Amino acid sequence: MTAAPQSRPEPAAEPQAEPPASEWTVERAEELYRVRRWGDGFFHVNPDGRLAVRTSPDASPIAILDVVAEARRRGIRAPLLIRFQDVLRARVQRLNDAFATAVEQAGYGAVYRGVYPIKVNQLHEVVEEVLEAGRPYGMGLECGSKGELIAALAHLEDDAAQLICNGVKDASMLRLILSAQRIGKNVIPVVEKFNEFELLMSLANGGEVRPRMGVRIRLSTSGSGRWAESGGDRSKFGVSIPELMNMIERLRSASALDSLVLLHFHLGSQIADIQIVKQGVKEIAHIYAQLIERGLGVRWVDVGGGLGVNYESNYSDDDTPINYTLQEYANAVVYAMKEVCDAEGVPHPTLVSESGRAITAHHSMLVVPVLGSYRKDSIDPEFKPGPDDHTVIHELFGVLKETRAKPKKKRKTRWMWELLEAFHDAAEKRGDADKLFALGYLPLEQKATAERLYWSICQNIHDMLKDREGKTEVPPELLALDEHLLDQYLCDFSVFQSILDHWSIGQGFPIMPLERLNEPPDRRATLVDLTCDSDGKVDHYVSNLADRSFLPVHGLNGKTHYYLGFFLMGAYQDIMGDSHNLFGRVAEVHVYADAEEANGYYIEKVIPATTVEQVLAEVQYFPNDLQRRMNEIIRRKIDAGVIRPPAGVQLLEEYMRCFNESTYIEQDV
Ligand SMILES: *Cc1c(COP(=O)(O)O)cnc(C)c1O
Repeated sequence: MTAAPQSRPEPAAEPQAEPPASEWTVERAEELYRVRRWGDGFFHVNPDGRLAVRTSPDASPIAILDVVAEARRRGIRAPLLIRFQDVLRARVQRLNDAFATAVEQAGYGAVYRGVYPIKVNQLHEVVEEVLEAGRPYGMGLECGSKGELIAALAHLEDDAAQLICNGVKDASMLRLILSAQRIGKNVIPVVEKFNEFELLMSLANGGEVRPRMGVRIRLSTSGSGRWAESGGDRSKFGVSIPELMNMIERLRSASALDSLVLLHFHLGSQIADIQIVKQGVKEIAHIYAQLIERGLGVRWVDVGGGLGVNYESNYSDDDTPINYTLQEYANAVVYAMKEVCDAEGVPHPTLVSESGRAITAHHSMLVVPVLGSYRKDSIDPEFKPGPDDHTVIHELFGVLKETRAKPKKKRKTRWMWELLEAFHDAAEKRGDADKLFALGYLPLEQKATAERLYWSICQNIHDMLKDREGKTEVPPELLALDEHLLDQYLCDFSVFQSILDHWSIGQGFPIMPLERLNEPPDRRATLVDLTCDSDGKVDHYVSNLADRSFLPVHGLNGKTHYYLGFFLMGAYQDIMGDSHNLFGRVAEVHVYADAEEANGYYIEKVIPATTVEQVLAEVQYFPNDLQRRMNEIIRRKIDAGVIRPPAGVQLLEEYMRCFNESTYIEQDV
């Protein structure tokens, strides 16, 4: 085995009283951001506080910010997608090794042959890397559309490697598949609907080679989690058992029982519970056994995708955790199949899985610069209102003093109603200040002081609430303070381009700072993106804290960049972006580990970000036309004497220069 042993899930840490910040260690940072849980052994924090990646514990780690710095020297700036090609390879190896181990230990009588479903990440280089890493294991591909078929077919160099064609297929696709079979390619159309079977039979009629096909079965087992609809009676695809019986009759009358070579099911992505996997495999195994007894030529059983990845890594009830490891998944498939086949006395079929997410998720990450923060400013602790200050300032200061004073009569804490009253008073006075300002009675400086006083009062009340967590019920108004007091970190990315599943299905992704992890994070922030959409924010985070509505971060020092890493981007996310708000693909660098190189790696490929011109072309705006329009606008201004010709030329140049730029912000610190 070349890949690192898989990390076992560890129980979620109980939120405990925090040890003092002086005892902060990089191990505590790893715990806080749950790196070991989602990182699968690939990620860790270096002693210098920088996040690093390696494919095995004895490999030398690559500091992610080294890659960012080198990309910068080559003129590529973050936001930046980094693909760790070695991680992709390692995942392919781990999957195949896990099945090989299960097959060996179970004494299973056939092999495992995985296929990679390219819809998970169709990027040419990803597909090529998976194929290359999977070659020793006889790995093949899976496609689900015409475009994917065209892309995948050209990559089937090895005749033995399988191409499984799922999804709805038209006559031209089926003809192509049959032709490929005729030249000896192992391309298997999987019948999704009964009428596809009829079409396939009629197209094959007259050909000298008997068609080979698979069938997708609509199981009564259904998946769980956010993608539950893919299996069971409600699923979009699959042939029911009565339809399967009709198919068998048709094949029998055409003397083509050996044409049906593969059985397939797919329960949906991210199967949370291993029991569902076992149940599905047993169900298909019984169908397989009965078909063998009826003389059909089934040789492959394909258990589809769904092998889960731990994104949120918590065992909380609002999350759908994956309750098994890669090895347990492989064991479940192999042992369940063996058990049923042995009981029925039929030969063990070759096992196929279409694990996509589990292969690609870990290998890519997004580096996102923080552009700035918005904090709730508090008042200077030494502040005292003077005779020139407005009454409303004096009143707010009075409330602040109350929240600072010791509780009356030796009680340790204040009554909740006292806190609530202070909050109401503060809110009222702040409202007064706003009204006075609107009417012109309060200068800007006084309004700023009023806001600072207000936030300081809120902060004090919030601090006092902390002492009594769990002891008394907290009124909703005061509970809401928690969120109001969070910082906002403005980040150079788009939720819709880069973490679409977060917005659409609430999928959490691990996010954490890439540096300063040897310092305790002293701020609590929510991340907001560049889009003008109010949904353009991250609303829950991966951490070991009980409250995951914010990300623990470091205060910005304004002098250096502060970079955040978004992880497990490789499955579905980094190819799914839809140019929301016309943000394009971010730039990419592809990294290979190499101990001979200075920092333990080299950059093999740099792909620039989509340019403005490219995203505009997608929505039918073209530079010539835009330039002509802009020219016209500028000429009219020159004619009208609003600007001089050189200024007009300069403006046009500035405008045209943007076409070749990335769609993201260029930050020059
Ligand atoms: C999407 C899909 C897959 C991949 O599923 P993962 O959960 O990513 O492993 C496999 N097979 C079919 C038919 C699919 O639709």
